[in-house]
Amino acid sequence: MVMRLFVAILLPEAILPAVEEACAPLRTAEGARLLPRQNWHITLRFIGEVPNDKVEKVKTALAGVKFLPFGVSLFGAGAFPSAKTPRAIWIGGESEGAEELAAKIDSALSFLSLPKEKFKLHLTVARSKGRAELSGFLKTGQVGSFEVRSFALVKSTLAPSGAAYEVLKEFQAEEMEGKADG
Ligand code: ATP
Ligand code: MG
Repeated sequence: MVMRLFVAILLPEAILPAVEEACAPLRTAEGARLLPRQNWHITLRFIGEVPNDKVEKVKTALAGVKFLPFGVSLFGAGAFPSAKTPRAIWIGGESEGAEELAAKIDSALSFLSLPKEKFKLHLTVARSKGRAELSGFLKTGQVGSFEVRSFALVKSTLAPSGAAYEVLKEFQAEEMEGKADG
């Protein structure tokens, strides 16, 4: 048996209203299907299918990733593969910390020989079959920012009605200097 896995930043509750607000133009956008907010995440690394007996090794590898809390700022919007033929519709953003963390995760998972992929921070909020009226949404400016204190290993089960995610394990940031007790 295999499991479909990915590594992600889960969103803190406090940022959800701002994201909801940014998504408002999508509610009436023809061709766009909003994703349920419990599915919102920022993918750090898509792993894909892994044999069940390798999952423990993945957890152990991720537990060895050391990082400090960092900020993520969300702004702007776009779509993959393009705004003209949107499939994944996202809010963009920037975070040096997330880039560094994604690189550390890639190194920790090198034993899986995953395809090389450039990290591009995005929060997928809707899906489309390649045609959607995004002009309002694409004007999205600043959305908000939040602090990341953990990342998660998530199991994805695909279904015609949309993927179901299950958090298998969360990995905490190290304490900031000065707060550590030794
Ligand atoms: P569905 O595929 O049914 O639309 P989903 O994309 O949400 O659902 P998965 O395909 O399991 O579910 O993907 C889990 C996460 O990994 C999503 O954030 C997805 O965008 C990302 N992802 C999936 N495939 C890749 C890939 N080849 N490269 C980069 N990220 C990917
Ligand atoms: Mg997918």
